[in-house]
Amino acid sequence: MDQEIEKQFWELKGLGEMTKAEWEALCDGCGRCCLLKLEDEDTSEIYLTRLSCRLLEIGTCRCSDYEKRHELVDDCLTIDQEKVKTLSWLPKTCAYRRLSEGRGLAWWHPLVSGDPKTVHQAGISVRGWARPETTARVEELERYIIDDFDDD
Ligand code: SF4
Ligand code: SF4
Repeated sequence: MDQEIEKQFWELKGLGEMTKAEWEALCDGCGRCCLLKLEDEDTSEIYLTRLSCRLLEIGTCRCSDYEKRHELVDDCLTIDQEKVKTLSWLPKTCAYRRLSEGRGLAWWHPLVSGDPKTVHQAGISVRGWARPETTARVEELERYIIDDFDDD
């Protein structure tokens, strides 16, 4: 006998239809969007670094003051369904980008696996290799540039 598989909210709703709680739950906790980016003033090209925002707890890959993040960090962006389409630096693995592009959530996403550790185990999060921006000297920032993520 065929068993009907119950669909989850991210499979049933578009990004614009999510409740605030659903939207927040979609974040996989990778911390990739909290890495410092450098912009070339001449070309506007954006370079990713391994330096993490001073509020990011690298061990958990979570913001240490999520409620007050915009007061504390000027360039902390709120991602919404429109920005997802235009932020070129948003990693291809990002849950919001994946859903916006119709790619669904990956097996390692905590909502799919039921385990918040899988985003780390799959090597998606910045745990283990990001470095706090506060430890880097401003004149040396370029040394921390990394290749763009090529996973999706
Ligand atoms: S890249 Fe996307 S999924 Fe990962 S922490 Fe940022 S908003 Fe969340
Ligand atoms: S303030 Fe928090 S959410 Fe914003 S970039 Fe920094 S760590 Fe990430």
